[in-house]
Amino acid sequence: MKIKFIWMYLLLVSFSVNALAWGFEAHRYINRCAVFTLPPSMFTFYKYYLGYLTENAVNPDKKRYLIEGEAAHHYIDLEYYGDNPFNKLPQNWNQAIQQYAADTLLENGILPWHIYLMKHRLTAAFRNKDIQQILKLSADIGHYIADANVPLHTTQNYNGQLTNQHGIHGLWETRLPELFKETYNIFIGQATYVEDPQKAAWDAIMQAHAAVKDVLRLEKNLSQSFNKLNKFSFEKKGKSLRKVYSEAYATVYHELLAGQVERQMRASIKMVGDFWLTCWIDAGEPDLNELLGVNLAEESKEEPFNQLQLQVRECGD
Ligand SMILES: [Zn+2]
Repeated sequence: MKIKFIWMYLLLVSFSVNALAWGFEAHRYINRCAVFTLPPSMFTFYKYYLGYLTENAVNPDKKRYLIEGEAAHHYIDLEYYGDNPFNKLPQNWNQAIQQYAADTLLENGILPWHIYLMKHRLTAAFRNKDIQQILKLSADIGHYIADANVPLHTTQNYNGQLTNQHGIHGLWETRLPELFKETYNIFIGQATYVEDPQKAAWDAIMQAHAAVKDVLRLEKNLSQSFNKLNKFSFEKKGKSLRKVYSEAYATVYHELLAGQVERQMRASIKMVGDFWLTCWIDAGEPDLNELLGVNLAEESKEEPFNQLQLQVRECGD
């Protein structure tokens, strides 16, 4: 009887502390807010499909475990490349695969290169006035850009597993936004054209990576000084209970981070809007209002995955 009870209890409790992505809500929020940075010539179209863009912001995470190679699009483990990864790693994909085995790159994550590939694809979709692809790729690139602004997506110690801080990934990018995002200033201003999208993707990674030390150090210190009994709590979500970092613990950590989560979220929103705008401009500013009456077909099947060939072909410059 006792064992049965324990099993039921374990089934009921879902450990959200193990989540490994900006929380779904944060991804949705970032895509949604990015729509409001767009100029009028894009805004009507994007606002019309606000629901789609918001809901599908989480698609890349949903297919992480379904599509071979997808996981590599969400992170880059920079430490693998030594103490000065940004001096060593070519920003251009074709140069990178001259320098490193493709398997090595894929194994350590290809997030910044993938953002640039997606930029090419979205530009092509605008050029072709392919509404299905415009929407799908807009939602997808929003996701990857948001991931690039999360410090723990740029490190091998992505979930604190190397420093006995297991669960910190979900704390930073799911729990904190869940508790505090409504307090963030999301007035971002207008999207602006990105002269060098490849560099912009790497700049975001660099900025996020610079924050990794603080993310880990501050939580480590807090964990050592905080009453362990109050570190976690249980919250009811639907019919299940989930174990979460307590509100008290999360609040102190959030304060110690001194606006870092908000800054990264704002950077994500701005960058998503900037990339959508840039793709549209590079495609010759097609009239999106023409597309408003077009019926959306069923979700097209995923193309067969061949990341290397696609990268080389589409990022040829
Ligand atoms: Zn992701």
